[in-house]
Amino acid sequence: MAIATGLTFAIQSLFHARAPLIFYSIAVILSASTGGMISGLLATGLSVVLTYFLFRDNTLAILLSQSSPALFAVFGIAATLIIEKLHDINAALSRAKAELEATNQKLSERTEALFQANEELQRFAYSLAHDLNTPLRSISALTDLLVQRNKDRIDDSSKECASLIVSTVLRMQRLIKGLLDYATAVEKPDERTIVDCNSVVERAIADMDSVIKLREAQITVEPLPQVRAVESHLIQVFSNLINNGIKYCPMTRIPVIYICAVEEQNEWKFCVKDNGIGLDMKYASDIFGMFKRLHGGEYEGTGIGLALCKVVVQRHSGRIWVESETGKGSSFYFTLPKEAGTPVSASASKMDAAATSEPSRFG
Ligand code: ADP
Repeated sequence: MAIATGLTFAIQSLFHARAPLIFYSIAVILSASTGGMISGLLATGLSVVLTYFLFRDNTLAILLSQSSPALFAVFGIAATLIIEKLHDINAALSRAKAELEATNQKLSERTEALFQANEELQRFAYSLAHDLNTPLRSISALTDLLVQRNKDRIDDSSKECASLIVSTVLRMQRLIKGLLDYATAVEKPDERTIVDCNSVVERAIADMDSVIKLREAQITVEPLPQVRAVESHLIQVFSNLINNGIKYCPMTRIPVIYICAVEEQNEWKFCVKDNGIGLDMKYASDIFGMFKRLHGGEYEGTGIGLALCKVVVQRHSGRIWVESETGKGSSFYFTLPKEAGTPVSASASKMDAAATSEPSRFG
């Protein structure tokens, strides 16, 4: 207060004997911010008293051309209250920040623990699936050998039993391969590179060349974009969707598959459309679950393919879904985030065509 009084006297001459209350205002603000409300109010009171006795006839409040100690008192109290409020808000903010930091810390510890447990589990599943294959191969080979060595001695029913053993082993091996693929897809989340989806689909198609030839399937692929992805995982996604499109097509019909992508605001939307048996939309989300099968009896399969597609797409921050009608084919859609690269001029009309055209018109 003494300093404020001294400085106010000092600058009085600059303002033609008037006294602006700048230094008292600063003193009030400093008192309120360092000492809180009581201190701010005391400073205001003291300033008013000093102003009244020392500068009664020539005071000029800050920001106002003409003023009085009474107006200064109002200013001082208001400033004190505002600063007090700001103090409270600041304290609440600091408390919230500290709580948030503590929660964040706990969350990242739990995420780390969960990640490690998950990795451990995946390693276990991977080695288990791998180890199970060896005895299965032996069972299959030994059964074949047994039948061959005793082909003159065993009857037809025993031969049938033996072939049932071999086909069951084969099914088991497929299941294990599916699990291995799934474990691998989950295991390597971050080996992403810029991938050209055109060559990804080419690879997927090349890998199932024999099935395509056997069913005389027609596959049409529109120009596809580049995305950031784990290439082998993306190949698995397209393989599963194309393979299903062929598999779930009646033997009396030529499978026709249409693949395209359209550019949306932040992502690419891919579509794999078939002219197969289709499915009831009430099971549309179930089929992406592990071991979930709708057409178990008639068609070979493990129920892992779409679960794998889902985990891969989700790991790449995308979504996957199906639109279908029983008997009228299915369109499987999935999205992947856009990546700066060389996009293709995929247009929305392609997707419209995929959604509305008769499947037989593709190819
Ligand atoms: P799988 O084909 O080995 O049974 P998937 O996980 O690939 O396993 O598919 C799960 C189920 O979804 C299938 O059993 C089938 O009932 C259904 N499904 C998948 N793709 C199609 C399709 N293109 N058309 C009709 N049904 C399909």
